[in-house]
Amino acid sequence: MKFDVVVVGGGPAGMSAAIGSAKNGASTLIIERNDELGGILNQCIHNGFGLHYYKEELTGPEFANRLSKEVKKYANITILTQTFVTEIKQNKVVISNKDGVQEVETKAIVLATGAREKTPANITLTGSRPAGLMTAGVAQKMVNTMGLLPGKEVVILGSGDIGLIMARRLTLEGAKVKAVLEINKTTSGLRRNVLQCLDDFNIPLFFQTTVFSVVGKDRVEGIYYGKVDDNYNQLKETQKFLKCDALILSVGLTPETDIVKGLKTMRVTGGGEVDEYYMTNIKGLFTCGNVLHIHDLVDNVCIESENAGRCASLFAKKKLDTSRPVNVIAGNGLTYVVPSTAYINDNKLVCRFRLKNKITRTNIVAKSGGVVLAKRFVLAGTPGEMQSLEIEKANATGDIIVEVE
Ligand SMILES: Cc1cc2nc3c(=O)[nH]c(=O)nc-3n(C[C@H](O)[C@H](O)[C@H](O)COP(=O)(O)OP(=O)(O)OC[C@H]3O[C@@H](n4cnc5c(N)ncnc54)[C@H](O)[C@@H]3O)c2cc1C
Repeated sequence: MKFDVVVVGGGPAGMSAAIGSAKNGASTLIIERNDELGGILNQCIHNGFGLHYYKEELTGPEFANRLSKEVKKYANITILTQTFVTEIKQNKVVISNKDGVQEVETKAIVLATGAREKTPANITLTGSRPAGLMTAGVAQKMVNTMGLLPGKEVVILGSGDIGLIMARRLTLEGAKVKAVLEINKTTSGLRRNVLQCLDDFNIPLFFQTTVFSVVGKDRVEGIYYGKVDDNYNQLKETQKFLKCDALILSVGLTPETDIVKGLKTMRVTGGGEVDEYYMTNIKGLFTCGNVLHIHDLVDNVCIESENAGRCASLFAKKKLDTSRPVNVIAGNGLTYVVPSTAYINDNKLVCRFRLKNKITRTNIVAKSGGVVLAKRFVLAGTPGEMQSLEIEKANATGDIIVEVE
């Protein structure tokens, strides 16, 4: 098998990347390990998807279905499902499926493998490991696709979007969500999810609070929990016991980059370090979606990934201009910025980043050599929300710094 562009992963990022590549005339292959395209969206039966991209409020499966119908319109896209990519090599992808292990030759690869959830071991959760202890994505799959209720009295650790959405879902399905515990001072989820998923159902959210240990032999029987100080030290004098039969973790996602060797990653995101074309340190390997950095909105995933796919197809045709590179740096008030490298030319650069702290009525600026290249007024922003800034970089004289003014 030979293709101009191979896209690994058939979630919203992979599908959009394939569309971006195919629109540009490249023969494109999508490889997906599951039975069908759609990725994580297939288990997100709540609405809230596509408000920007389709200007409609869709459920996850509706959004995925629309995007996969669009993919299937392109004659130059081939779809290979039930196929696992085991390794990415220079110009080659190793696949494993019912036909055995094979290699696919390609000129460019887009890594769109999404992210996996952090486990109890990842956060060194102490106590036993009984039934009822699981991640939010697993709980979501059980409830939304298998018709199973993971517990009747539930505590959720972590106030990321998946945890918030599961608090509402479990309540709607008849469970009692006793509390959501968040170790930080603010939620890492979207404000709309705190309002719609917790406040509307009177579910308490405790900040600077965490699980000290899990209790239970065969089944979760409860947790010891309490406050932490500003350095995340557990304050044992605040310890209390809370009876529950399920503890659901929503404590972050890790980009699925393991199938690539030698990938240079960003310390903060765990995803690949990319240039403005979404190309990594490995020439011809592009990356987008949650494997690049964790997105809150699928709309941004699609916009970013279509662009990444287009750039991969340009690379395949040897048409990417990588002259005059400069660094893009996360300055004051930012935890990270994507991309890390831009090229001084007339193309506009949309950089995406996250804030360190909450901001209100503040400008975000991009500067190069003392010249302001772009400025955007932000009425209110939180660390959980992805921010973006469009930069005219033709006038850049050196590194571009993006920061809170
Ligand atoms: C619980 C939850 C709720 C969300 N709620 C919202 C919401 O309300 N509104 C909103 O806009 N966004 C929401 N999002 C965010 C949005 O769904 C994600 O940002 C988006 O799905 C990420 O797309 P992706 O393609 O990068 O990753 P994924 O959707 O995870 O897709 C990755 C795909 O790659 C495949 N894959 C991985 N490794 C391999 C391999 N080695 N070989 C072959 N295939 C592989 C996987 O099977 C998967 O299909 C939510 C996300 C979650 C998890």
